[in-house]
Amino acid sequence: MREQYPNAPGALRDALRHAVERGGMSSLGVLHQGVPSASTLTGTDATFQAGRIRAQLDKLQPLARALLVIAYAPRTLKCTCGARCCAGSYPNPEAENAMREVLAHVAPLIARRAANEALDRAIIGNALTRTRETAVNLAQRCGVNRHTVAAHVAAIEADLIGTRQVAGKFDHASARIETLLRDAGIVADAGAGAAAANDATRCAA
Ligand SMILES: [Zn+2]
Repeated sequence: MREQYPNAPGALRDALRHAVERGGMSSLGVLHQGVPSASTLTGTDATFQAGRIRAQLDKLQPLARALLVIAYAPRTLKCTCGARCCAGSYPNPEAENAMREVLAHVAPLIARRAANEALDRAIIGNALTRTRETAVNLAQRCGVNRHTVAAHVAAIEADLIGTRQVAGKFDHASARIETLLRDAGIVADAGAGAAAANDATRCAA
């Protein structure tokens, strides 16, 4: 955790990772993650900062919050229990809850098409983490034809990521959290990070 971030994504990534680390990782593991610098917060300071960032996130509507969690929370968590039956990692419950929220939101957008949760999960995850995957690949991975993939991608991306004409729900959520974190002094003011400021105002323009 840091005292201040150049932009919201960095703050969200750290905060969403921090909260789950407390239970899942040994204190040594946390210590070994990086070389602390003057601006690096550790221990209770880091936990307090993660709490401040989460408090801003909690001001958003459930859907907006869920979109940001999918974009920036770790998908899986490491498990250090050492049990022989343990796979060493498990799905992050917070990311999973967020995915359910977004799946429920997109379902009516594609109501006339055959429901395909695996496909929608893949499309939502790819869209929010800016991951490129071809329609052919998605079709194979989810066991559907390319026309189904194209229809689901069009409906989901238009709503979450937007079109040339209209900003998507993820853009609105990103702009809102950037403003909240800036007002709270967690994200540095424009000038300290001109690129970050451009990012935040892009979809307001
Ligand atoms: Zn385990």
